[in-house]
Amino acid sequence: MIVAIDGPAGSGKGTVSKKLSELCGLTYIDTGATYRCIALKVLQNNVDLDDIGAIIDIASKINIKFTKDAKTFMDGIDVSEAIRTMEVTKIVSPISSIPEVRSYMVDLQRKMADSNDIIMEGRDITTIVFPNADYKFYLDANVDERVERRYKQNIEKGINSSREEIKKSIIDRDYNDIHKVVGFLKRTDEQVYIDTSNMAIDEVVDEIRKVIKR
Ligand code: C5P
Repeated sequence: MIVAIDGPAGSGKGTVSKKLSELCGLTYIDTGATYRCIALKVLQNNVDLDDIGAIIDIASKINIKFTKDAKTFMDGIDVSEAIRTMEVTKIVSPISSIPEVRSYMVDLQRKMADSNDIIMEGRDITTIVFPNADYKFYLDANVDERVERRYKQNIEKGINSSREEIKKSIIDRDYNDIHKVVGFLKRTDEQVYIDTSNMAIDEVVDEIRKVIKR
């Protein structure tokens, strides 16, 4: 079984998917983390963002693994926290816009699904990675709500950031994620659309479970 969830930053995809994976016995795959790993490596290696060739080279060789407890390993090192910094967040969307980078990551994401029952979230899961997924959802929320959620998450994770900084980052990423040449974020008639702005996490989880049960 494949459950595919798309939506913009802060729409609740990650938290909801993690909960559903536990409740429904599905393997959780966070595709944003794969692009974040490349961004982290670009920063670590001081690669210029204009050096598209070097970024594609990183994408072609990178080794990314997720553990059952939702940790992310890059080339054997636990980078679960390092990929969430504002520095990584700032450059991840332009990096994920490079078509060749996407091609490597989409291959990897499909392989990660392998023969498991999965719940996978990102921006192009319902359209490109698994267009034939059994269940497709688009989670959304208004910008201010998404900023507030990300602000609280950052505090919990000990990441230093202001609401203004997060709002700018979310608006920039939304624009970039919608205007990519390939793998852009879009709504389709096949997705079940859920506006989570005024919903608690458990309400969103219940709504999705209802659709799956049906
Ligand atoms: O989901 P998250 O916010 O961690 O994703 C980080 C970035 O990776 C997004 O802003 C988007 O640019 C990119 N991304 C993507 N395709 C996906 C998942 C994430 O382009 N399937």
